[in-house]
Amino acid sequence: MSKILLLVMVSLLTFSPSSLAGLSEPIVNYHIKAKLIPEEKSVLGEEELTWINDSNKYISELQFHLYLNAFKNSRSTFMKERGGVPRRLKSNRKNWGYIEIDKIQVKDGPDLTSTIEYIQPDDDNKDDQTVARVTLPKPVPPRGKITLHIDFYSKLSRVVFRSGYHKDFYFVAQWFPKIGVLWKGEWNCHQYHSNSEFFANFGVYRVEITVPEGFVLGATGKRIDATRNGDDTITYTHFQENVHDFAWTASPDFLEFRQEYSLENPPVNTEMILLIHPSHRNQRWRYLSSLKNAIEFYSQNYGPYPYPTITLVDPPLGGLGAGGMEYPTLFTSFAFSWMPKGVYMTEMVTIHEFGHGYWYGIVGSNEFEEAWLDEGINSYSEIKAMKKYYGEDSSMFNIHGVKISDQVFHRVRIIASSRLDPILKNSWEYYNGATYGINVYSKAAFMLLTLENYLGEDVMSDIMKTFYERWKFKHPTSQDFIALAEEVSGQDLSWFFDQFLKSPDKLDYAIGRLRSREVERPEGILEGEQGLFEETEREEAQEQDKMYRNEVVVVRKGELIFPQDILVTFEGGEEIREQWDGKERWKRFVYLKPYRLRSAQVDPDNKVLLDDNFLNNSRVLKPKKIPLLKCALDLMFKFQAFLAFVSF
Ligand SMILES: [Zn+2]
Repeated sequence: MSKILLLVMVSLLTFSPSSLAGLSEPIVNYHIKAKLIPEEKSVLGEEELTWINDSNKYISELQFHLYLNAFKNSRSTFMKERGGVPRRLKSNRKNWGYIEIDKIQVKDGPDLTSTIEYIQPDDDNKDDQTVARVTLPKPVPPRGKITLHIDFYSKLSRVVFRSGYHKDFYFVAQWFPKIGVLWKGEWNCHQYHSNSEFFANFGVYRVEITVPEGFVLGATGKRIDATRNGDDTITYTHFQENVHDFAWTASPDFLEFRQEYSLENPPVNTEMILLIHPSHRNQRWRYLSSLKNAIEFYSQNYGPYPYPTITLVDPPLGGLGAGGMEYPTLFTSFAFSWMPKGVYMTEMVTIHEFGHGYWYGIVGSNEFEEAWLDEGINSYSEIKAMKKYYGEDSSMFNIHGVKISDQVFHRVRIIASSRLDPILKNSWEYYNGATYGINVYSKAAFMLLTLENYLGEDVMSDIMKTFYERWKFKHPTSQDFIALAEEVSGQDLSWFFDQFLKSPDKLDYAIGRLRSREVERPEGILEGEQGLFEETEREEAQEQDKMYRNEVVVVRKGELIFPQDILVTFEGGEEIREQWDGKERWKRFVYLKPYRLRSAQVDPDNKVLLDDNFLNNSRVLKPKKIPLLKCALDLMFKFQAFLAFVSF
């Protein structure tokens, strides 16, 4: 075996361990040797796993994710949740995927293989084999360690969702036996679901991957070695600390572009690695520029990107099922060679998937139980980043003067939603994939944008930075986020999160009625002053020729409550701003003025982005005198309604 270091392939960037320092000994330490077998579309693997019992209990069983078994047959929980088997998997048993543990043994100790048992902690689908447990002959004591040796075989499926192969393109994710999380003394090891797949301990990964020479390989972490084996294969070794997963990709067709990225404030040094399919070569500028924007945005707004590499994978057309997926320091986006410049889908997906490197990758929330903490916070970040780099109104589409923003794109989903589920719920228990996506991505993002408008941009920025700093490489819950938001803002926000996280109901305030009536001179028998008006009003009415009783009624049409600003304008140009706590079902404001009311608008600064219907937020008494700005606003709202109509 001749060994050469392929220095060209190895990044020379200096990696500062200080950015990841200060952490206690990692709970998991994986050393995996894997060999891609192209003829079988499979990976043969050997894994040495050291696990620390981080609880104060004696632990006598271990649980593992065996997620490729989601693609084993039509009876897996994943396939049932998808509602059917994709055509690409049918008709040939070679199209399916699975993972087998051939042997699992305590290092220098007993063989545990015969104790393997599939379990289904989330549903009672006995056919699901995505989680297994093994029984230990001797429990692991609190703070004790165990090292296991595992031989496994992973047959990849054709790419339909997330991972698999298409011809010579391999996207290898959720591919090795991964230990579950011992969370508060209990195993938190969920089955592989249609809506969710991520929760694991942070640790150290050293992975040696052998592929045929000529294959271009991308993987989590930094490449520390490349060795030619003398049998037309090459072994690449990747290493990364402080990640909770490891994925890789290989194809002889990839074009590889490497570029250093550095930022002064905050200090960031990393290597961008783009693996692109040749037919999309003309789109590489799009990938690299949006990746740079993403690194800059997340570093400046949350914390400096801490890893020495970031690998962006562009799947071929037939492998698009693996597009838009996120794994530590490696993610997929997608592009088409014919995509016009003003369509920012690739940019949006690139920024979003890079962002998961932060929200779930570094701040490791539990996607199965509280997916909004990664998808919602990340969609909020994505909307803000898209706005910054691609324009306030044009961040999704900008062609021949037709503009649509990423924010409008998300809003359309929300207003078309069926209100069946709240934002906070187990991911696999949503009514369907659409209500999951609407709540966990779009509605959660709008909840945070609304909170930002309520607290102010500076306070929200402090919340997000503190959340990142305090919870990086840890596992926060929703309650941790709420407690931190309250601490940083100095406000009780339970009323906000109780409603918006937990209720599927809607928020909708409207101008219910506008009325302006001329005040008539008092007539009839006035002695005793039992007339229609107060004495002072009557005097005023008598002093001037005309007076008007102007009435604005604001209505709470939804169940949810949010304090509201109301802007009332009059024909003379006078403007009055009112504040209302929004708690009652309606509130009337009355103004006695020598001129008529012109218009009223609830939430005039468009701060309450969760409001379900912007169309009813304003009313004009005399439509002929609508100011130009208001015309434009009305048009925008109508356009939104039109989009909702044509999209769903
Ligand atoms: Zn996402």
